[in-house]
Amino acid sequence: MAHARTRKQSSRKSAKAPQYVYFFANGKAEGSSAMRPLLGGKGSELAEMTNLGVPVPPGFTITTEAWAAYTSGGKKHPAGLWGQVVANLARLEAAAGRRLGDPDQPLLVSVRSGARASMPGMMDTVLNLGLNDKTVLGLARQTRNERFAWDCYRRFITIFGDVVLGIERRAFDALLDAAKARTGAKTDADVPADALKGLVTEGKRLVQEKARQAFPQDPTEQLRLAINAVFDSWWAKKAVDYRRINRLSDDWGTAVTVMAMVFGNLGDTSGTGVCFSRDPSTGEKRFFGEFLVNAQGEDVVAGIRTPEPVDGLKRRMPKVYSRLVAIKDRLERHYRDMQDIEFTVQEGRLFILQTRSGKRTAAAAVRTAVEMVKEKLINRKTALLRVEPASLNQLLHPMVDPAAKVTSIAKGLPAAPGAASGKVVFDSERAVEWAHKGEKVILVRAETSPEDVAGMHAAEGVLTSRGGLTSHAAVVARGMGKCCVVGAGDVIVDEEKRAFQAGRTLVREGQVITLNGSTGEVMVGTVPLIEPAWSNELKQLLHWADTTATTKVRANADTPKQAREAREKGARGIGLVRTEHMFFGEERIPIVREMIMARDEQARQKAVDRLLPFQREDFVGIFEAMAGLPVTIRLLDPPLHEFLPKYKDVIEDYTRLDALGINPQRHHELGELKARLEVLIEANPMLGHRGCRLGITFPEIYDMQVRAIMEAACAVARKIGVGKVEPEIMIPLTGTVAEMKLTREMTVAVAEHVVDEMGIKVPYSVGTMIEVPRAALVAGRIAEFAEFFSFGTNDLTQMTFGYSRDDIGKFLPFYLDKKLLAADPFAVLDQEGVGELVRIGIERGRKTNPKLKVGICGEHGGEPSSVEFCHQVGMTYVSCSPFMVPIARLAAAQAQLKEPRRGSGGKRHG
Ligand code: ADP
Ligand code: MG
Ligand code: MG
Repeated sequence: MAHARTRKQSSRKSAKAPQYVYFFANGKAEGSSAMRPLLGGKGSELAEMTNLGVPVPPGFTITTEAWAAYTSGGKKHPAGLWGQVVANLARLEAAAGRRLGDPDQPLLVSVRSGARASMPGMMDTVLNLGLNDKTVLGLARQTRNERFAWDCYRRFITIFGDVVLGIERRAFDALLDAAKARTGAKTDADVPADALKGLVTEGKRLVQEKARQAFPQDPTEQLRLAINAVFDSWWAKKAVDYRRINRLSDDWGTAVTVMAMVFGNLGDTSGTGVCFSRDPSTGEKRFFGEFLVNAQGEDVVAGIRTPEPVDGLKRRMPKVYSRLVAIKDRLERHYRDMQDIEFTVQEGRLFILQTRSGKRTAAAAVRTAVEMVKEKLINRKTALLRVEPASLNQLLHPMVDPAAKVTSIAKGLPAAPGAASGKVVFDSERAVEWAHKGEKVILVRAETSPEDVAGMHAAEGVLTSRGGLTSHAAVVARGMGKCCVVGAGDVIVDEEKRAFQAGRTLVREGQVITLNGSTGEVMVGTVPLIEPAWSNELKQLLHWADTTATTKVRANADTPKQAREAREKGARGIGLVRTEHMFFGEERIPIVREMIMARDEQARQKAVDRLLPFQREDFVGIFEAMAGLPVTIRLLDPPLHEFLPKYKDVIEDYTRLDALGINPQRHHELGELKARLEVLIEANPMLGHRGCRLGITFPEIYDMQVRAIMEAACAVARKIGVGKVEPEIMIPLTGTVAEMKLTREMTVAVAEHVVDEMGIKVPYSVGTMIEVPRAALVAGRIAEFAEFFSFGTNDLTQMTFGYSRDDIGKFLPFYLDKKLLAADPFAVLDQEGVGELVRIGIERGRKTNPKLKVGICGEHGGEPSSVEFCHQVGMTYVSCSPFMVPIARLAAAQAQLKEPRRGSGGKRHG
């Protein structure tokens, strides 16, 4: 409807149209940081900086609301938009003292994308807009620099052809390369004016040929087309992929900023750069950045020439340098965060073109957060919220052993620390394809572009031969927490041959290399890695986390070694000891098999008695390691056939011996094994004879385990003190009150017996897993016989969805792709369904027993969003694998900061 209106009608309507355009110039802006959703990150911060008095070229920002109206209106401008653009263009021309399309004093503008969340390089930007065959001459006269004017024009044709007209950028680059070859120019900056003129003619011809239209000469038309193209770049494949990887909403849309161009390509007193207020790789408080003389913005990011460190400006342009330092300090103080700043120097004058909070490695995130608290820039709460819990994983990743003797074949710039080994691939598609098959790959490129993001995501690490520490590859890799080495000049990539040469070494696709992201070294093959040490800042941050969180973090550990590791990583107890793992030991498995093969109770008891000392020994080690902290031990859970050899193998051996007629004794044994297996094997073992069902039908097993636990507890208590051993005996797979009542009675009988025997009164508690949906529903009654619940969300998820954990792979990828499931429910707790059972279980359980301790011990216990949920539903603790403990500690603190809960529950029962 709207588009059918006449101009008159639409202008009448525009009285009511929302404000679609926000102006900024000369120290005054209509927008501000607070308007980020409406003006996008770039637009709102340009406005904010303008208001701060930072030198920003004048311009205006078209809102995301305009984008939404344009997009939902079938790519038509909503009423009032264009009128507002034209009016603000007039204001911009007045501020700049030049006019768009004016042949004598032409105004050139950039048309920039900008969403509310930073999506670096994913959407499009058009630079040097406003040039045509006439204005280029005016620009040359005005600047008295013909080469510059034609350089801008050929850049404009390239970028406009690419972004607006959809012509492959490569075609323009080929023209440039040919011109460079013809004129013997080493870099773009050496191509002489005449050759640039020729390039403009060739570029226009290319446009005519590919787009079947003349290159548009009307600057207003150029502007309209560019605005629409930037709107549309929200839907570019790379942008859509980026949002999917980073879980950003498709609905936000992009704002469009139109601003006066400033020129870094006006000679040796001009240039362009990117800088960070602190080192984004380590977090060290030092000015960090890069600068290219005589270049325009994208040249730095694209890694076309390798830039020099920003310190070089100190020599070249001392005044500009000190101004820049003052501005970056000002911006960091203002935003109270590390800033990533784009700047351009035009003939000795500094302009700031963008600021945003800098993407950083986890190490840098931790260090800056802690140091900024010490500098009183931010408080602890902000510091804790500033580090993404999952990103801590990076810090816990292994790195190349500094003591190892390695020979590197090349060295580049260390862009993102850590180490990565994998098979070399040379393009994004192959990286994704091989990673999909489970291969570890290293993506090797001359330089990366936004099209490579999917491949970078799939790769273990990224190596480029060109570009600096602020190049696309470096920025994106840091954001992803990927190991990355850039600008390794010795690496010569031959994409066609699928190989690279580094000195005398030729490395082909598929060969394994290792990157050291901390030193920039590239090595052939794999090299020894070590566990990284925790920095003091990480320890500090996690200490703050512990004093903040009300939900405690425990670990799942089956051995004394794991328990010690968990404690070192800050676990406040063991939430799950799986006793079956103790049955699998080399000397033990024959005894376990004997127990299973036993024909009668007596024989079974004999085998069980032999297992007792082994179990006791394990528990002693764990109790000692966890002195002073609670330890939850789960009685045997898996079905017995898991301890026997595979039926298929037994049958094979049996039939072979049968056929050969040899080794009659072994033949006989195999026959018995086969017969026993036939009895034990179940159609559906996950729903079969396991957990407390097993303990109830073979009481000798649980009795032995309880005895081993209590004997160990008493022995350790005698050594280190009664208060320091806290066994919590846990019954698996309870589904009915009767099961709970019976197993509790069995447990207490043995435990009391041992306490009497040993003459030392170690307090213990008895509780249960809640992992069968029915148990959650009857939790109120089960709690009559349980002092604690531990939600086994792996089984609970399996039984609530009816998805077999082992078979989900067949349909899960499809479900995720079609968005039938938001995430793998075995990785991220399904709060809506499984979570509802958890909520019910806790509520009903605590109604019966207000002191009920509640925890979780499924895989979800270390996943940040699930930890937050556990906190919200009032769990006493979460328990996760030892290596996830730091992540869970931070996640628990963040959960408390987001939704405060009174702490006493956690402390008293934790
Ligand atoms: P991206 O979001 O991909 O970084 P930008 O909109 O920031 O895209 O622009 C790309 C490059 O062009 C940047 O280096 C930027 O500094 C430069 N640039 C943008 N607008 C101008 C301008 N008005 N004058 C000079 N350079 C500009
Ligand atoms: Mg930018
Ligand atoms: Mg289970």
